This record gives sequence, C-alpha cells and structure tokens, in this order.
Amino acid sequence: MPTPLKTVLLFGQPGVGKGTQGKILGTVPGFVHLATGDMFRGLDRESELGQEFIRYSTQGLLVPDNLTIRLWRQYVQGLIDTNQYRPDNDLLVLDGIPRSAGQAAMIDEHIDVLRVIHLTCSDIEPLIERIKRRAIHSGRPDDADEKVIRRRMEVYHQETSTVLDFYDEAMVATVDAVGLPGEILMHILNEIIPAARGQVGNPFG
Ligand code: AMP
Repeated sequence: MPTPLKTVLLFGQPGVGKGTQGKILGTVPGFVHLATGDMFRGLDRESELGQEFIRYSTQGLLVPDNLTIRLWRQYVQGLIDTNQYRPDNDLLVLDGIPRSAGQAAMIDEHIDVLRVIHLTCSDIEPLIERIKRRAIHSGRPDDADEKVIRRRMEVYHQETSTVLDFYDEAMVATVDAVGLPGEILMHILNEIIPAARGQVGNPFG
C-alpha cells in the first residue's frame, strides 16, 4: 500500500451522522468514503471473519484491533487495485476508524491525517432513537436492541473517545451534529477543503 494516504477522519458517537455525511462526501469527485461498519457488514456472514464480526457487533463491542486493521488494509488495497481509489489524487474520508488508541497507533503509518472532524451531540437519547429507527430499514442486527446500543455508547466513551488524544488539538475540528444535514455538511466542507487544498490532486486528472 502506498503511504501515506491523505486522509480526513470522521469521528463521533454512534448515531451522530458520520455515515450520512460520509456518504454525501463520497459522492464528491476526489473524495473516497470508507466506513468500516459497511466494510464489516459486507463480509460473507458464513465466513470465519463474518462470524467474528457478528459475535462482537451483536454485543455492542469492537472487533479486535489486529483483525480490524488487517481487514482495513486489505480493503484499501482492493479499492486501489480496482481503481475506485487513487491515493495520489483522492482524499480518503475514513468513517469509524480508528476506534481505539491501539488502532490509532497501528493505522498511523498508513495515513497522513489532514483534519479530524469531530461531530458532537451532547444528548445521547436522540442518537439512540435514531439508531433504533435506522435498524429497522438498514439490516443492522447490532442496532435493534437498546441494551446493545447503550453498550456501544459506553464502549465509545471508554475506548474510542481517547483516539482524539492521539491527534494534535489544532488538527481537530468540532462540528455540531445537531441541525440540518445540509448545514452540517457545509461546516464539514469548510474544515476539509482548506486542509485538503494542495494536498490531493485534480480528481479529473
Ligand atoms: P458502525 O456501522 O460504524 O456503527 O459499526 C458497526 C460495528 O462494526 C461496530 O459496533 C463494531 O462492532 C464494528 N466496527 C466498525 N468499525 C470498527 C473498528 N474500527 N474497530 C472495531 N470494530 C469496528
């Protein structure tokens, strides 16, 4: 894998809108959105890896760091090999990784983080409701059970929030995740574009 990959991290609690914003960003030429939750859900459920994923996610737990980073590397390589991602030209928008201090350290050799977008929402109750609604129409077994959702919130505070300490404070942009999606998108772009300018190539080149 060529290194370092020019990257923006979408960071924040489950349900805060990383996926919603990431998907929109991924439609912009020159931005490639990679969500590790989607990566895991795309695994064959009968495979050993797929079974591992289900075992952890249905309990609201993180998949172990080694397995996650290994799969992430293979997945990125696959995107490169199939021309879906051109590291010299594209900005990688990572959503859902790194999710632990260990992952931040392991992934560091592969990525050059230009900006960390920290999506924030002070009240977790609307996030829990949002996740429950989403579970109904998106086939996410880990999101159907409120106990599991609350466990995911705890895991975020215990294991994931410390990831922010890994990055220089000046690198982190806090964006209020409450509001119109278009407005939140505007705030995110206002943070990403200046950081990315001159760092990635012309997507039409
Ligand atoms: P998400 O769609 O991002 O909420 O992720 C769904 C589930 O996938 C999580 O609850 C974890 O079990 C697993 N997962 C996604 N990303 C990671 C990661 N970076 N590290 C470990 N587990 C992850």
